[in-house]
Amino acid sequence: MSGDSFSSLPLSKAQLANLDSLGYQKMTPIQAQGIPHVLQGKDLIAQAKTGSGKTATFGIGLLNHINPRFFGVQVLVLCPTRELADQVGKELRKLVRSTPNIKLVLLCGGKPFGFQKDSLKHGAHIAVGTPGRIQDHLTRETLNLEGLKALVLDEADRMLDMGFADVINEIIEQTPENRQTLLFSATYPDTIKKMCHSVLHEPVTVKVEAEHHDSVIEQAFYQVKEHQRNDTLLALFEHYQPETTVVFCHTKIQCNEVARFLDSHNIEALAIHGDLEQRDRDQVLVRFANKSCSVLVATDVAARGLDIKSLNAVINFELPRDPEIYVHRIGRTGRAGETGIALSLFIDSEKMRVKAVEEYQDKPCVIENPKALNRDAKFAVHPIMATMQIDVGRKNKIRAGDILGALTGDAGLAGSQIGKIDIFEVQSYIAIDRKALRKVLDYFADGKIKGRSVRARMIS
Ligand code: AMP
Repeated sequence: MSGDSFSSLPLSKAQLANLDSLGYQKMTPIQAQGIPHVLQGKDLIAQAKTGSGKTATFGIGLLNHINPRFFGVQVLVLCPTRELADQVGKELRKLVRSTPNIKLVLLCGGKPFGFQKDSLKHGAHIAVGTPGRIQDHLTRETLNLEGLKALVLDEADRMLDMGFADVINEIIEQTPENRQTLLFSATYPDTIKKMCHSVLHEPVTVKVEAEHHDSVIEQAFYQVKEHQRNDTLLALFEHYQPETTVVFCHTKIQCNEVARFLDSHNIEALAIHGDLEQRDRDQVLVRFANKSCSVLVATDVAARGLDIKSLNAVINFELPRDPEIYVHRIGRTGRAGETGIALSLFIDSEKMRVKAVEEYQDKPCVIENPKALNRDAKFAVHPIMATMQIDVGRKNKIRAGDILGALTGDAGLAGSQIGKIDIFEVQSYIAIDRKALRKVLDYFADGKIKGRSVRARMIS
């Protein structure tokens, strides 16, 4: 039994079998260092980033402390954004599968308050959400934290950056003193140190090496003139031909312009930024995750919490001023042992930013000549999947299996023509092979799911 095997932990057979079924063969470094302390009930400061396996670090550890017979919130996870909360919620749901009768509720803004209130009333053991909405629930007394056993502050540095310090403190005031507190943060500035001091009790600190290594992320920098940015971006696509890419921009306007430019050059792209309505943001994220869109043009804030496992490339249309943001951006590629590429465009006046990255990474940046890019004008990105939206969701007690059953049964599709299925509260999204779209639309013209007529439309 090796030290990084899950079976070295005091977990139940069902829990171990569940981890096995999820394909988690061994612990990631943060899990190997962190889970034993979490299981022992200790407070923890973990310097780890999204992608390191941090959610399972607290998920596996805290699950054992939950009493399913007590119908109150026992674990509260605070996240900076709705997307991250969503991602954390999904990961925790997978982990609690092995323990019957544990309910999880997502408490994020932008979603109807009533549903959340009802879920809380019916008894939820784990609550995951954003500080603002959780504070709302506390103020309206729809959430009671008196029975809380553990509090998790996820991406604590981001939460402080986003100005949540006061709200977090107000939430903490409503939790029992003897709770267990776990704080996860990619960075450890003074503000976090201060918070740790006031909120944690004799914490253990664990830290993992930066999760991306040179061998995994190939980085290259291209100096261009301002007017050459668009064309060089296209040249990067034609040369590297990545399957899935996030292009980072500074502003919302730039995101829209760059996405439009790529679209007009046969590279289907979607823009995502803070101005989109929550529903549109969800749709863009769903389409990217289900492979019906493979190029996303994003601002930093909008890209937070993207749940993408196999991103081939990150392209910086403009370099950020802060080298830490650069490292955070490129950390989205090359995960889990895969090779990723990180490509950056910069103009003469941004040379200082390249210098800052060099100093931060403590190694020279490789500057390449854009003229040396091998262009293939025929290169195009047209995903083979498309996304269909149907007007039934969790509220209608629809599960992925019901949709899959209807499409492979009555509608006559092959399983391979159906991709990821995402169920939301009142609607669901299904990735479908474009070749089978007509068949699906025809089926939904009068077909049913679980005896219910369903309206369907294509959103990509
Ligand atoms: P996180 O850092 O929590 O965002 O996790 C990143 C991804 O790694 C998630 O998609 C998890 O499902 C996955 N993951 C977490 N722990 C393991 C593990 N021990 N083995 C394989 N995959 C894992």
